[in-house]
Amino acid sequence: MRDCGKVRREITMSGIYLDHQSAYPVDDRVRAFAEKSLTNDFGNPSALHSRGLAAKTVLEEARAKVAELIGAEGPETIIFTGGATEANNLAIRGLAARNATKGKKLLASSIEHISVLNPLKDLKKAGFEFSLIPVDRTGLIELAALESALSKDTILNSVMYANSEIGTIQPIKEVSELVHKNGLYLHVDGTAACGKIPVDVQKDGIDLLTVSSNDLYGPQGAGALYVKPGIRIQPVSFGGGQERGYRPGTENLFALAGFGEAARLAGQEMAEESARQQAIRDSLIQEILQIKESYLTGHPTKRLPGHASFRFSRIEGESILLTMDAMFGIQVSTGSACSSRTLEPSHVLLAIGLKHEEAHGSMIVTLGKDNSPEQVPAIVEATKKTVERLRAFSPL
Ligand code: PMP
Repeated sequence: MRDCGKVRREITMSGIYLDHQSAYPVDDRVRAFAEKSLTNDFGNPSALHSRGLAAKTVLEEARAKVAELIGAEGPETIIFTGGATEANNLAIRGLAARNATKGKKLLASSIEHISVLNPLKDLKKAGFEFSLIPVDRTGLIELAALESALSKDTILNSVMYANSEIGTIQPIKEVSELVHKNGLYLHVDGTAACGKIPVDVQKDGIDLLTVSSNDLYGPQGAGALYVKPGIRIQPVSFGGGQERGYRPGTENLFALAGFGEAARLAGQEMAEESARQQAIRDSLIQEILQIKESYLTGHPTKRLPGHASFRFSRIEGESILLTMDAMFGIQVSTGSACSSRTLEPSHVLLAIGLKHEEAHGSMIVTLGKDNSPEQVPAIVEATKKTVERLRAFSPL
């Protein structure tokens, strides 16, 4: 096993990495910034001495940078967490608990990440109910279905800004208007969207927003929940008073310093970098769709700039992933990394109306800063050869 791991690592390091939605490399500038903090700022931000105050300054600078990226009213709206999963749990459980006397109904789109869907399922034990709002074949939420699902005792709707499996970007402003007209709260999982497309909590009308550090080329295991001023949630874990009591425990200062710097760089570079990636994405889509019986999943235009997702009939996504990696040194994804070991078809692909056998043949390409237009011919060629080879062996 150890040898196998070594070989895979060598392939990875010399190959083309196209699975950024699962994990982003940390930007060198972010690493340098965070390392400085790891070395110098070892004080506890809650301590009153000068070392503590220095650490607190680093923490608050990071908070201001994250607030700035999402157009928040101020740094005090940002609660740092240990990642997007934790922020999603805090948003949903915290808001439900706080508003339990107002109502027990919760809504979410049917293509939410499992870190939204699983807290909703768990809340059933506490007497809450939830309904999933369908999406159309391109992954856009059905606003009419959302409207008819709303009732007096509905307290929350959770809709992701963009989907990491199919790239579709939701009409968040329209969702927000509908939700607020009916007096409930809107939580948006911005994990896949922040740093790729403009996300502005005030202009978009978002009450709670999840942000992930790694998706901005920051360290893993750091994230944030934005909570609009005036909205109250209940803590879901208990301890000291850090993060205003919403996320107790000594802060991971190194990761949060990196997160802040990553957010600052994303704000500065997003427009140019997204345009660059979109051009690569478009040529990949155009070329790969020349393959017989290949289809784009997600929306053709309302999609993340660096996101191209496909399905190929009569072959399995896992085999595509393994062949692309072993034969061509190209790492792609076939579904959410968190559930890809289950071999169950992705709930996202089923929700956009694919049959089980169709949902199995998926390949997701997510670009990053390290990808270039020069890589397109090699990626296209590898995909063609992989599909041909697997179809030749396919019993279907
Ligand atoms: N939301 C979305 C949309 C995601 O794609 C992911 C996974 N990257 C998460 C939440 C959870 O992120 P993490 O595993 O970093 O907590």
